[in-house]
Amino acid sequence: MMTMTDRPQPSFDPSASGAPRAAGYRLETWTVHAGRPGWPREGHSAAPPEAGQPTAPTIVPATAYWYPDAAALDRVIEDGTRGFSYSRYGTPTAAALEAALAGLEGTEAAIAYPSGMAAIHAALLGAGLRPGDRLLLSRDVYGATFTLARRLFVELGVQVELVDATDTAAARAALQRLRPRAFLFETISNPLLRVVDGPALVAAAHEAGALVIVDNTFATPLLARPAEWGADFVVHSTTKFLSGHGDVTGGVICTTAERRRALLELNKMVGAVPSPFDCWLTLRGLRTLAVRVERQTRTAAALAARLQAMPGVARVHYPGLPGHPDHERAARLLRAPGSMIALDLAGGRAAALALLERCRLWIPATTLGDSWSLILYPAMSSHRALTPEERAALGIGDGLVRLSVGLEDEEDLARDLERALGA
Ligand code: PLP
Repeated sequence: MMTMTDRPQPSFDPSASGAPRAAGYRLETWTVHAGRPGWPREGHSAAPPEAGQPTAPTIVPATAYWYPDAAALDRVIEDGTRGFSYSRYGTPTAAALEAALAGLEGTEAAIAYPSGMAAIHAALLGAGLRPGDRLLLSRDVYGATFTLARRLFVELGVQVELVDATDTAAARAALQRLRPRAFLFETISNPLLRVVDGPALVAAAHEAGALVIVDNTFATPLLARPAEWGADFVVHSTTKFLSGHGDVTGGVICTTAERRRALLELNKMVGAVPSPFDCWLTLRGLRTLAVRVERQTRTAAALAARLQAMPGVARVHYPGLPGHPDHERAARLLRAPGSMIALDLAGGRAAALALLERCRLWIPATTLGDSWSLILYPAMSSHRALTPEERAALGIGDGLVRLSVGLEDEEDLARDLERALGA
């Protein structure tokens, strides 16, 4: 585990005991091979390679699949685990991605979706939320998750309650009082990068009879594996770090085989199916996930320390810095503090917008986890729907800017920020 100093150095020490594994391999190895034909799939047994098979995953765009006899077709339509029949029921490319992501999160199974929001919507339905049920939501979840719950699910008759999930005691009390059907929280929150006590929250939710949905998008399975804490559904926007190149929209739920079967039955009705090409791109991105996360985290840790001394920066929010409110928790629960940073600029909104305009290397864009570095003004994007007072209540000031650190050289990134801030 890393030593937290003023200049945190995240550790991905290959010899570290207890480093997460999939099918006996460290995740750093798994991500490189996962999805490749012949690589271990469900059941974690390596299928013997077939002569002449491609070494890279293939894109299978077919809508339907041919079987020589009707009985065989009947069997695969009845039981999708025996083969493919129709593209809305599953495709080989999505299945390869799902096996790769299940291994990464350490779950029995996974199901891919065409966006992170489609995955979150499916997880909420898959948790069994029905009219009259309660949903407990971490109060600082991603804006669209908040809107989905507070608009659609409230209209459907679900009672949605909010809690500050970083306050474990408050969350435990809310769970006991409300007895919700489901509790949804994020491992690392947006944009202030608060870190929750995931294992304690999962235990408290289960004690109260609630199912747990964890959005692990910001952490990635390299930094946290919520299924090991007992989470029932681990969701990702694969649009972000997992695909990693800013060219895919996708999502996934990692869960048990039984829950996956129920989610698939639901999806056969609603048809939230990812395109094989997007699944293939995500598999391609996954191969470099570990090196990207490691490099991006190292650069972010160094930049977070340097940003504290840059002109106009009132505060740096980074879980690897000792001043961050969840610094100790991050050190205990995350393998490293990640590559997202938030800054409070003394000059407020004007300074934030000026920074976005003056950066040459940092791309102003409403996403994260790409190979290139990104800069975002939450008040204009993810938290636009909130009033300044509502944002302030969440600790999001007018001068708050979010950075997603990419793969560029640390010096170049620091110089670009320093010049833009000092201009
Ligand atoms: N969850 C988190 C934490 C996100 O940041 C996002 C998007 O930014 C989503 C879910 C939604 O993902 P998508 O845009 O792929 O639907």
